[in-house]
Amino acid sequence: MVEDAGPGQMALGCPACPQPGINITQDTWSNDDPLWLLEPKLALDGNFKCDHLQMKRPEHDVWLRNGSAYLVNHSLYEKHLRVTNNLQDKSRCANHKAVNQANAHHKHVDTTGIGATACARHGFFMPHSVVDFKKGEQQKNMDFSVSEAMKYFTRLKGPGDLITPAITLIYDVMCQYGKHLDVRLSSGQFLERPTARIHQAVGKFHLGVHVDKCYALYSLNFLQGAGQTDGEVLETLWSSLNKVAGSTRAMSLAHRQEILDDCIRLVEENVYHWWQRACDESPKMQDAYEDLRWRITEEDLQDWDAKASQAAENRERC
Ligand SMILES: [Zn+2]
Ligand SMILES: [Zn+2]
Repeated sequence: MVEDAGPGQMALGCPACPQPGINITQDTWSNDDPLWLLEPKLALDGNFKCDHLQMKRPEHDVWLRNGSAYLVNHSLYEKHLRVTNNLQDKSRCANHKAVNQANAHHKHVDTTGIGATACARHGFFMPHSVVDFKKGEQQKNMDFSVSEAMKYFTRLKGPGDLITPAITLIYDVMCQYGKHLDVRLSSGQFLERPTARIHQAVGKFHLGVHVDKCYALYSLNFLQGAGQTDGEVLETLWSSLNKVAGSTRAMSLAHRQEILDDCIRLVEENVYHWWQRACDESPKMQDAYEDLRWRITEEDLQDWDAKASQAAENRERC
């Protein structure tokens, strides 16, 4: 047991995401570099396989590791839930299950699933960001997760006071969740609204079932610096974690936290294989890009750039 470990301090943050002061230093940063390189992309999602049965004697539970890695501090999170109302509108977009079943009741369980925030590009769970759902996937659950995840980046400072200028949040129900997000983060007693700008997006798989208007507002295709990020990385992380869901269901809450923390750490080793694949694919992508670039005139390129900038500005105003 490490008594002094604070929230998330025993978790491994994503080594590939831009972190001013850690992997963005005087040696690696030039003032000519575009600031969007510093913008992390975070994916949010819920998982209903990792539920938990009510304990007969919860007072006998012993917390050896409470919030020091990926799952959040139990008592702090409970306080947040107690003082926060969940005034959630019915979805005005498609029939989103996560919105309309936010208050679904389940028998014999005290936790109906988990929610998390992960780095969308490299598939690392954010430290101190995995929360339990008490009913369905409620906004106040995900608010705590995303607030803790953003703190990881907004508290960093790099060379020349370089800070994270903006954060992109990607969620399958962002058109509903994002409506009053600023207000909830600013007013939450246990939440923090970062000064960094927040871009909102919907993952590419889920965006297909939204109404047409959501495509223009939330598509990652129109977000500068998003590259080919699909925003669905948590779906793949869940499939690995679900293998232990049957075992953790009947454990004590404290024991479950230790096991899930350890398993999340193991899931992250996938990144090494992704990196090897990226090294193999990179030259092929460079060739394809050069081939495409060669066919486009300089005038067309400038025209498209101007239109893309205008569209991005319009989107921010919506
Ligand atoms: Zn990352
Ligand atoms: Zn929508």
